Amino acid sequence: ETEVLRKPKWIRVKAPTSKGYAETRKIVKDKGLVTVCEEAACPNIGECWEKSHATFMILGEVCTRACAFCNVATGLPQAVDQQEPAKIAEAVQEMNLKHVVITSVDRDDLADGGAQHFVDVIHAIRATSPGTTIEILTPDFLRKGDAPNAVIDARPDVFNHNLETVPRLYLSIRPGARYFHSLRLLEKVKDRDPSQFTKSGLMVGLGETKEEVMQVMDDMRSAGIDFLTIGQYLQPTRRHAKLERFVTPEEFKAYETIARAKGFLMVSASPLTRSSYHADSDFAQLRAA
Ligand code: SF4
Ligand code: SF4
Repeated sequence: ETEVLRKPKWIRVKAPTSKGYAETRKIVKDKGLVTVCEEAACPNIGECWEKSHATFMILGEVCTRACAFCNVATGLPQAVDQQEPAKIAEAVQEMNLKHVVITSVDRDDLADGGAQHFVDVIHAIRATSPGTTIEILTPDFLRKGDAPNAVIDARPDVFNHNLETVPRLYLSIRPGARYFHSLRLLEKVKDRDPSQFTKSGLMVGLGETKEEVMQVMDDMRSAGIDFLTIGQYLQPTRRHAKLERFVTPEEFKAYETIARAKGFLMVSASPLTRSSYHADSDFAQLRAA
């Protein structure tokens, strides 16, 4: 058995006990919604839910991929819930969200990879909460042809797709995905609708080098990506990809400085950064600037 590395003090988080947390949890449960906060066992859940910031996961709880870092269940996917767009729209209204983040499992089994469902969710939120900005965090739509075009044309405010790791580690960490396909997806968004912000993220601590991370930043900027998140990988269980090391807060700070110099409009790089962490406040700040 491999030894699990002891968490450094900067990784420990407070237990979710606040009133705000309980309220968010109630809305999520009452509507039967799925959140990536829970499915991914996100360490920020106490802090985010206290501020009514949850990331909804659409298209079911079962993923057709099995990325080595991910805590989401893999297997035979469930039927798409046609009521889901309405339920999400109601939750956004009840929670009075200024900014909402929507993600999904990967649906390689669907002809369009779930693109139309993303479109339906965006339209449902726009209809009931026209002032809410919408950020989507999508799968890669690998081998789904032009399916992403419909999602781009639904005009989310932020189109996010995570590259997750450096190209050298794709075979072991993200075996079902292709680095340049993912990069090209984000480039396509910018080509088709330059007014949309594009965003991507990386996990570190998987054995990547600083040079490799800097190369990915350059690739991202070449593809016109606007926002970048970098966070510490945490190994969900012993069966998941091995955590090689904890990147120090100082190293994250250095990544942030480098990324800003490379021209990203928004950068979040810290041990507990996740792609949806502070997405609401960061986006509000950017729009106010
Ligand atoms: Fe949820 Fe994202 Fe916050 Fe984690 S960082 S609790 S996934 S909103
Ligand atoms: Fe997890 Fe996404 Fe990979 Fe599915 S595609 S296993 S949800 S990271």
